Amino acid sequence: MKIKKEDQVLIISGKDKGRKGKVVEALPKSGKVIVENINLRKKHSKPKKSGDKGQIVEISIAFDASNTKVICPKCNKATRIGYKKEGEKKFRICKKCNQEL
Ligand SMILES: [Zn+2]
Repeated sequence: MKIKKEDQVLIISGKDKGRKGKVVEALPKSGKVIVENINLRKKHSKPKKSGDKGQIVEISIAFDASNTKVICPKCNKATRIGYKKEGEKKFRICKKCNQEL
């Protein structure tokens, strides 16, 4: 998977289309990502002790990484990611500005 934790991404489809956020979790096995403040669902948290009221909290739900584009920190554009090999090393590069990500 090309997207990594801490990447800034642009949402390109769904109800959060056009919004940006930081990847807080990348899940390569399922091809999903969790992005800060994106794809929020309300969830009731259980009261911690009896007599307390439960709270409603909003949590970010994982969604398909193909619904995002990485925002290149070098050129600040939503881009596709390519790979470059130099000897044994493999870099992620921005397809817009060709700089290492
Ligand atoms: Zn770039």
